[in-house]
Amino acid sequence: MAYECEYIPELHTEGSDGGNPLPSCVGCDVARVKRFERCGRLLFRTIKVVTRVILVLYSDGIFLFLCLAVIYLKIYAVKYAESAYGDARIFRGGQGFRHPLSFKIYLIVEGDRQILVDAGCNSMCGWDMRHFLPPQIVMARDGLCPDKVTDIIVTHAHHDHIQGVAFFKNARIYIQEDEYNLGKRYIPDGREVVTFKDECEIIPGVTAKKMATHSAGSSIVIIERKTKPLVISGDEVYYRDVLMSKEKQTVFTSEYSKPIYDVHIMHEQDGLPGANGIWEITE
Ligand SMILES: [Zn+2]
Repeated sequence: MAYECEYIPELHTEGSDGGNPLPSCVGCDVARVKRFERCGRLLFRTIKVVTRVILVLYSDGIFLFLCLAVIYLKIYAVKYAESAYGDARIFRGGQGFRHPLSFKIYLIVEGDRQILVDAGCNSMCGWDMRHFLPPQIVMARDGLCPDKVTDIIVTHAHHDHIQGVAFFKNARIYIQEDEYNLGKRYIPDGREVVTFKDECEIIPGVTAKKMATHSAGSSIVIIERKTKPLVISGDEVYYRDVLMSKEKQTVFTSEYSKPIYDVHIMHEQDGLPGANGIWEITE
């Protein structure tokens, strides 16, 4: 088409109008304008289509990434002891009954990331502990390598949740900043520590969130799943009837007692009563 526009003026320089190329050039310009308009419309449509494709791919890419993250994410409960505790020390209005407790930590596996929720403890002086085996030993015995743990989210700085960080020597530690001040004596020198104020996303779909209803900066962990989000309670609640109780409501229970969440209570007796061990709760 470029050739035709160059060609027509040449014809009229030799024509009856004294070589004035204007009329044909006007026609040529009109044709060029029309072609330009057509090209413009085509270009505009192409940009629209390409933009739409990019947007769809981009949003689908994120969706696909989240789907893959959820599909390949595995969650395990690791129970390492049992004991009992007076209810008067656990919630307001307790009558002094001793309730059974489990001691658990959780492991989230996603690709090469192995993320613990709490590190457990190697000792619990003054407690009547049963089926006690330090969590790193339970893991090693049942095929999960403690040295492969890449991250530990510490829900709070109480002994049975933080003492074990020393035994997962390759793990980066995430802890809310107020809890860090309470628990830093448990963390060996040279370990990488990430503190956060209100919440922290460890990997897409796994978030630590400050609650502060159990201690200064106590946190929970929320994990997106194919079904509903799994919430690991830390010590924000010890018993399911407290979680569901209207009378004993806290900031934590008022939100996370809703049926849209699947709450795992760290000290609840579940999974393996009368034993220690590991079970999968990915769902
Ligand atoms: Zn606690």
